[in-house]
Amino acid sequence: MDEILEKLKNGIRKFQTEIYPGQEDVYRRAASEPQKPDALIITCADSRIDVETITQSGTGDIFVTRNIGNLVPAYGEMMGGVSAVIEYAVSALKVRHIAVCGHSDCGAMKALLNPASLEQMATVRRWMRNAEAAMSVTDSLTQPDEKPNERLKRLTEENVLLQVQHLRTHPAVAGAVARGELTLSGWVYDIGGGQVRISENSSRTFDAVTTRANG
Ligand SMILES: [Zn+2]
Repeated sequence: MDEILEKLKNGIRKFQTEIYPGQEDVYRRAASEPQKPDALIITCADSRIDVETITQSGTGDIFVTRNIGNLVPAYGEMMGGVSAVIEYAVSALKVRHIAVCGHSDCGAMKALLNPASLEQMATVRRWMRNAEAAMSVTDSLTQPDEKPNERLKRLTEENVLLQVQHLRTHPAVAGAVARGELTLSGWVYDIGGGQVRISENSSRTFDAVTTRANG
């Protein structure tokens, strides 16, 4: 008996008996039409991020790609899964918004601050090169009395801003943005606090999404 696989199977069983029956029409409709998500969200592979839950998105609402550190290789660099997802989302699915979502306590960001931790992981180390400029910006802006958690927060934000810049180097993105058909934003999700702060309209600052008093 494979304990972990069994746990996953139990989840599938629960989905089939408790969740699916109440939403069968939603799933059947989704399966009978081409998908038409209106946003692409690029986030970290971290198991604590549940992007559908925090945006309250349903089946078919968002196109999602995840990787270590929510990185976007600049166009021409490491052409692979992420670049293909971006091109497909913009050119075929015609998404109207792309968000890069970083998060608190990100292992990838901590590894950037402590490169020795990646000594045994050549692939991750290479992948993290896509965030190198964020590290140098962070170093340039670091205050002498800055605490380690403030430095991590700064790096997390600079990384998100850098990856949004990288997005703009992709021809499909640049074209759609120029035509006014696509907008971009950068997010930082605070896992413990349930808070999401967003940089939009190319701003360098992240503003918390606030709860509106009157709906
Ligand atoms: Zn992460």
